[in-house]
Amino acid sequence: MSQLDYKASLLRTARRIVVKVGSAVLSDTSGLRVEVIDRLAAQIDRVMREGREVVLVSSGAIAAGRARLGYRGRSMGERQAAAAAGQIELMRQWAKAFDGRGRTVAQLLLTHDDVADRKRRTNAVHTLRALLSAGVLPIINENDTVAVEEIRMGDNDVLSSMVAGMVQAQMLVILSDVAGVMTRDPRKHPDARLIPLISDVESATRGLVAEKAGPLGSGGMATKLKAAGQAARAGIATIIAPGRGGDNLLAVLDPAREIGTLIAPSRAPLKGHKQWIAFALRPVGALALDPGAAEALRHKGRSLLPSGIREVRGEFASGDCVSLLDAAGVEFGRGLVNYPSSDVSRVLGHRSAEISQVLGYKVADEIVHRDNFVLLEELT
Ligand code: GLU
Repeated sequence: MSQLDYKASLLRTARRIVVKVGSAVLSDTSGLRVEVIDRLAAQIDRVMREGREVVLVSSGAIAAGRARLGYRGRSMGERQAAAAAGQIELMRQWAKAFDGRGRTVAQLLLTHDDVADRKRRTNAVHTLRALLSAGVLPIINENDTVAVEEIRMGDNDVLSSMVAGMVQAQMLVILSDVAGVMTRDPRKHPDARLIPLISDVESATRGLVAEKAGPLGSGGMATKLKAAGQAARAGIATIIAPGRGGDNLLAVLDPAREIGTLIAPSRAPLKGHKQWIAFALRPVGALALDPGAAEALRHKGRSLLPSGIREVRGEFASGDCVSLLDAAGVEFGRGLVNYPSSDVSRVLGHRSAEISQVLGYKVADEIVHRDNFVLLEELT
């Protein structure tokens, strides 16, 4: 199928769209590019007038702040200071551009902790829904000033796919300074070609990693594909396209124009609860399984019982997210545990019927129930 045929079918149902714009589009060494912001605002406004809901994820705070403060340094403190000064500048420019079009914008600053914590995530979702139904454009960035390494999202590509899952968007548009996903690194290989349509993002990513001088090192492509992969498993299509051109967002959303790379959503998307386990939580420990248990989880849709566990790694509490490792030590899934690590260590290898006897209590037969388990790779 061509990109155009596929896009036409997706656009018919794409009512809610997350648009992520990178710093390379919005800024240069002298700071924010006001004309680019204005052009994008005009396009977003038009998309909203045509009846679609838009959530904007905008980078550019650090770039704006650096220019403003004359910072060159890259220390954490300086980045955070730059973000603090730059974020208001960034929002001022967006607000100005949308004011002129009679549209209100709102700001949300999130960290990884906010999307991992169920209550805070739900609150953010309620806020976003209320803004969207009021016709307001939510503009989201990572809360850089408080996001030290452990609670950082990493980058706004990943933030945008999290947000797309949270608002149950149908499409994620990542606008950056690259043409899309290329067959090879275009900086080294003039013969690199644009890939217009990726129907299976997991195998495409594996292929691109395997390719010598592959394109994943360039233009932050690895994180863009990671974001697209997460979106795909949430049932959301992604388009990675160049963001600098005059009307590129409109081109992306035009069924008659081919631009960038379209990444198809999974045919068997994860439900919200499983998306949260797979992408929002970070595992705090791991369970190494025997081949039979790994097989039962991977292919048979079973739960994890104590008898299939060989080893407990790390310390975790009941309800925490853990990695599940196959016999080769490869993480193939994640799940929420029903027992703390100290108790799993005591019951491993036992049958479920023996749990109460060994521990003196029993909350469940399973260590990880299948409803709280996700396979990290889609089965093909
Ligand atoms: N939050 C950062 C900023 O606003 C950008 C991070 C990113 O683009 O990945 O400058």
